Amino acid sequence: MKEIYLDIETQHWSDEVQGGWSNIPGFGMALAVTFDGPPPGLTCWGDWGPPGQPVGMKAVAKGLINHLKQFDRIITFNGERFDFKVLSAYGDVSALYEKSFDLLAVLQKKLGHRVSLESLSRATLGRGKSGDGKKAVEWLRSGDTEQYAQAVHYCIGDVMLLRDLVRYARDHGRLYFLGRDEGKREIGFGPGELWPTFSVHKDEIRVRDITDQVQYGGDVDDESLPLTRCACGEVFGSWSFVLSIYRDDPRVCPTCKRKLFFGVNIRVYEVIEQDQPKEEF
Ligand SMILES: [Zn+2]
Repeated sequence: MKEIYLDIETQHWSDEVQGGWSNIPGFGMALAVTFDGPPPGLTCWGDWGPPGQPVGMKAVAKGLINHLKQFDRIITFNGERFDFKVLSAYGDVSALYEKSFDLLAVLQKKLGHRVSLESLSRATLGRGKSGDGKKAVEWLRSGDTEQYAQAVHYCIGDVMLLRDLVRYARDHGRLYFLGRDEGKREIGFGPGELWPTFSVHKDEIRVRDITDQVQYGGDVDDESLPLTRCACGEVFGSWSFVLSIYRDDPRVCPTCKRKLFFGVNIRVYEVIEQDQPKEEF
């Protein structure tokens, strides 16, 4: 599974373009930052030609679209309604939609309202953005090297916030955002919602798939799976031994002390000690 994170800054803002927010392709790309790997690497996409000899943003954006197409998953915050639309001015972006994981779109569907990257980052990671999109537009065309660098820094920062939020959500099965009263609100995720769930390996927790050695029953919801028979043979009544998706908070079998959780496609995993053989999944 090859994943890439993307964030784009534009040449113009809504109040400068005819049609405003209904004409996002008209904003024009000014800068993009991508993060992918392994090995992990950031790439800045801009018209880096020497003064007076720009290579043209069209060529840069086309190169970016082709690069994005090589990945299985394109992770953005509002990419489906913004970044991809900006890119659509330079080439066919339909393939990008097919590979999209737009965190804002996912959250909006769950919550019924939009939530800002700033709010999520402050509540979940304890740090926030270093600017805003409209400021970045001004910095990028200021002609001032320091301001330009500030915009690049801002765009990189947004990509890193997004990466850290997705990692946090996959590791913990939840994210936080700030409500209107600045209070923390929790958003929980079920298996599959953060596809690919649990793909990020946590070194300190090793697991083995023991799905074939257990039995489960009843309705599985997003976060819980009732186990009816453990790998040790112990039988449980319906909903008396319930596994969660949280690998860092597994349920312990009262009989054999196995630490169990479940993951995407209802696979049951046992947390194993460091000196036992490791199994990737
Ligand atoms: Zn057991």
